[in-house]
Amino acid sequence: MTLKLTAEVVTLTTRHPFIIARGGQSDYRVVCVRLTDGGGLEGLGEASPSSYYGETAETVLEKLKILEPYLPKDPFDLDAAEVKFAQVVPKNGAARAALSGALHDLVGKRLGVPLYKLWGLDPKKAPVSSFTIGIDTPEKTRAKVKEAAGYSILKIKLGTDRDEEILKTIRDVTDKPLRVDANAGWSKERALEMLPILKEYGVEFVEQPLPPEDLEGIAAVRKAGILPVVVDESCIVATDIPRVAQAADGINIKLAKCGSLREALRMIATARAHKMLVMVGCMVETSIGITAAAHFTPLVDAADLDGAALTVNDPYCGAEISGAAIKIPDGPGLGVTRR
Ligand code: MG
Repeated sequence: MTLKLTAEVVTLTTRHPFIIARGGQSDYRVVCVRLTDGGGLEGLGEASPSSYYGETAETVLEKLKILEPYLPKDPFDLDAAEVKFAQVVPKNGAARAALSGALHDLVGKRLGVPLYKLWGLDPKKAPVSSFTIGIDTPEKTRAKVKEAAGYSILKIKLGTDRDEEILKTIRDVTDKPLRVDANAGWSKERALEMLPILKEYGVEFVEQPLPPEDLEGIAAVRKAGILPVVVDESCIVATDIPRVAQAADGINIKLAKCGSLREALRMIATARAHKMLVMVGCMVETSIGITAAAHFTPLVDAADLDGAALTVNDPYCGAEISGAAIKIPDGPGLGVTRR
């Protein structure tokens, strides 16, 4: 039976304007896709486009139209389907990730098993997810830290001219483990100046201190040996890893960047071959996208899967990230349901 594709734009609203070093907003338009197989089953997937990587809800809809004729006849043809998608639409990782998620969901539902089980993973090995505190005034920052009481690790967005004040504000109200993401907002000099301060505030590691192409600068920051350095914007797919391995201690995998669940697994294997730390992150997205990523978290060291938790109108239920370790749903496929 031929797979039928439908796509719906969903506007997610974050509880607070979600601001990082290069800006931000409160409304995020994502695309939820549904693949029906005519036999009563449907696979759900999500594209969470980022303009930084050249995608919007509109480009996702456009690319899905282009990809639709290449949907496999048999959803179990995952590898061939994903190779084809990447040939036809080489960029646009978010658009491809939606189809990858939906096909994996459908395969799991056909077999009646959750995706993590298909992969042979132990859901109890899932790590705790961090919860992100976006850039804000000291007063709002304090309020956000209080609201995040249910989360045991905080990820702090920095890359401003008042980073030390932000850190101090947060440390004054919590002693939780902190991670920092500068989103390419620092120069090498600024990063070298900030690292000892981060260390003093008990930060565990720093993500993307410098612009993505400045691997030499990132390598110098890492060489200072003060904190582990993880790259996010510098690392999109597995073939980037041998290059970034010279400069950083770890990578941050996102489905919206790498475009497929199978590519995410390849990235994990490649990073491990380079003895790197592996982290999984997300965009602002619904529980469809978050849950797709949650299924491979038993393989990673650190997770930042708060994209749905940051919103007030997630239409789906899936992986739970508050409290302790990420709870991956047990239902077949992704195990995501409508709220
Ligand atoms: Mg990041």
